[in-house]
Amino acid sequence: MKKIFLFMMFLMLPLAVSAKVKVVGTLPVFASIAREVGGERVEVSRLVRPNQDPHFLDAKPTFVVALSQADLLLHGGLELEIGWLPPIVVQARNPKINPNTPGNVDLSQGNHLLEISQGKVDRSLGDVHPMGNPHTWFSPNNVKVMAVNISQHLSALDPEGKAYYAERLKTFVAALNQKIQQWEQQTAGFKGKKVITYHKSLSYFTDWTGLEVIDTVEPKPGIPPSSKHVDELLSEISNSQVKAILMESFYPSKVPEYLAEKAHIPLVQIPSDVGDEGTKGYFELMDRFIEKIKGAL
Ligand SMILES: [Zn+2]
Repeated sequence: MKKIFLFMMFLMLPLAVSAKVKVVGTLPVFASIAREVGGERVEVSRLVRPNQDPHFLDAKPTFVVALSQADLLLHGGLELEIGWLPPIVVQARNPKINPNTPGNVDLSQGNHLLEISQGKVDRSLGDVHPMGNPHTWFSPNNVKVMAVNISQHLSALDPEGKAYYAERLKTFVAALNQKIQQWEQQTAGFKGKKVITYHKSLSYFTDWTGLEVIDTVEPKPGIPPSSKHVDELLSEISNSQVKAILMESFYPSKVPEYLAEKAHIPLVQIPSDVGDEGTKGYFELMDRFIEKIKGAL
């Protein structure tokens, strides 16, 4: 009996030493920040692919498996993933990541939010995000808040790693602050330049850099453009001297391509998330993003 017990202890020991905190991020960008902060104490996966529309997604059985084993779920909040995440959290039957538990982390917490709907939300206005624009990660200042949030949750789950997470957070934030300075210099000429975007997804970026979004290709969020709206856009482009059309790679490009050709302005397809166009982390994503927009303006 004692031998069996010792043998079992032996089996359990390496597991206990190497057990990592299992983190699932809905979007690649959230997973990427978790890797920066969590380092070798975490095992991170993501659900959405880099070039996939995070609003509309077919939840795969592998998502449920990943969630059933997760210690921490990181999501964008503000109803970004409302169309597909809540049912798979239920199916995963994992009390650690249920809504309103510490393992279910809304990364919009503490962010400076834009476009919070006032009053009653009318769904005829399209697939609106009434609690605020959820595309928060396009502001690096929000990403800083997310990193702090993630490190606090990791420290609570894995107190032995507290100093480790604090050190990694410090390194990440210092590097991010440097990048912010660099990006602000690179985008200094963006202020007041007019653009059209496909979806209302770049508000945090344009708020930060001073670009002006005068309209969107979608007349309302999630609704494809009518020919009337296309005509309106064409006259807006010439009347307001719009410099470029910006869109994430996963949106349909037919209408934006038509507009760009008709109006003789560039169409910029920007990487939508970490991993798109081979970008390896948040810094590379934003570098590429800024480089492409700058090239077009
Ligand atoms: Zn959206």
